Amino acid sequence: MTIKLFNTYSRALEEFHPLDPAGREVKMYTCGPTVYSHAHIGNFRAYLFEDLLQRHLESREYKVHRVMNITDVDDKTIRGSRGANVPLAEFTAQFKKAFFDDLDTLRIKRADSFPEATDPREIRKMIEMIGTLVERGLAYQAEDKSVYFRINKFPDYGKLAHFDLEELRSTGRVKSDEYDKENIGDFALWKAWDEQDGLVKWSSPWGDGRPGWHIECSAMATQLLGDQLDIHCGGVDNIFPHHEAEIAQTEGCTGKKFVRYWLHCAHLMVDGQKMAKSLGNFYTLRDVIAKGYSGREVRYALMRVHYRAPLNFTWEGMEESRVALGRIDDWVRRLKENAERPTSNVQRRTADSSGFQDALDDDLNISGALGVLFETIRETNRRMDAGEMGAEEAKSWLEWWKGVDQILQIAGEEAEMPAEIAALAAARVQARLAKDWRKSDELRDELAARGWEARDSKDGQKVTRRGGS
Ligand code: AMP
Ligand code: ZN
Repeated sequence: MTIKLFNTYSRALEEFHPLDPAGREVKMYTCGPTVYSHAHIGNFRAYLFEDLLQRHLESREYKVHRVMNITDVDDKTIRGSRGANVPLAEFTAQFKKAFFDDLDTLRIKRADSFPEATDPREIRKMIEMIGTLVERGLAYQAEDKSVYFRINKFPDYGKLAHFDLEELRSTGRVKSDEYDKENIGDFALWKAWDEQDGLVKWSSPWGDGRPGWHIECSAMATQLLGDQLDIHCGGVDNIFPHHEAEIAQTEGCTGKKFVRYWLHCAHLMVDGQKMAKSLGNFYTLRDVIAKGYSGREVRYALMRVHYRAPLNFTWEGMEESRVALGRIDDWVRRLKENAERPTSNVQRRTADSSGFQDALDDDLNISGALGVLFETIRETNRRMDAGEMGAEEAKSWLEWWKGVDQILQIAGEEAEMPAEIAALAAARVQARLAKDWRKSDELRDELAARGWEARDSKDGQKVTRRGGS
């Protein structure tokens, strides 16, 4: 088994081998949200592709150490907090919380840490790195008091995006007020304070100000994972300038190769355009949930197309996802019924799981993997229809599905409610029958603390996992 991944740096499929001498530990960094509003489902496409990657690596027995940053200071967050007339930290706190709620709804595994750019420890690291770059002549303070990276001093600048430095010089990517940079491609490491920033500032050897967005990621990645990473991900819009700048800053400080594999997902589109806040063509997760879809349906809809292919968001696509999940739920229910029937003299077969994982080994070929799943469903349903499947075989397919869903995370509630949750839910039904409302409320809280929600309707109690149907 060898995993192959498409590396943006080389523009080629490469065999995956982490730096760890034992070959098992993987250091993975993923650019996280800027918390100035609710993330849109395009952002979640990126986070879901990263989740799929992490879960697949884990299924192949890698130990993944993952960091995702939270950008809680930049122009947009500052503008938002001024507009709302509340301090920056208070303004961003609500969107941080919403972000974590959304991760749960989409069943995205939490990273090991979520460093925040405004954490004093991180700010210190950023200032330290900028100091090193200035000392080495890779950065300079301009007349406007901001500190810029000198791209001419970093010969590899442009290698990730496959840009020619000469071309960059003539791109005219510069705003007219940035006249005091040496080169229009130079980017800010430290932004000098101006009155728009209000109370948002930190002191530094170059005066009061705040870090640039790119240095935030270089500092947080190296602070928590070390100088060298195995995998760095993001959406394709992050390649330039953000990731290009991260390489220049980090390698400029450490002198070592920063990242072995750069992975980028294509955009989620709406009517042929990138879904983006700036275009106003976006849906937040809450918008889609409000239309009656569940977290797992959104998860499936955003994950079912290969991460490097653009995916068009449509409501028909959401309906197709609902139908696909319905088929899986029915299949799991039937397997369970079969697993409980006494075995008659039918053939014994055991499930073979290799096809599903083999497809994912090939640069996360999700279409191939889902093809294996649905072909398995078709064939095993046929055998159940024909009465050819014994209990042992049904059990082995259920085991197979458990492994598959460890990666996909799309099972319906009933199929995966753990025994202890079922016991709490049953106890609550008893408490309500006995009109013991206090006990009933306690059990509801107990369920909530474990990530499950109990709702009462005229048809009785319904217990669902957050993000479930
Ligand atoms: P941002 O908060 O804009 O920095 O974006 C957070 C992450 O979402 C980054 O990895 C972006 O590349 C990614 N992203 C933004 N818009 C889209 C989109 N429409 N489709 C896929 N990924 C996106
Ligand atoms: Zn980043």
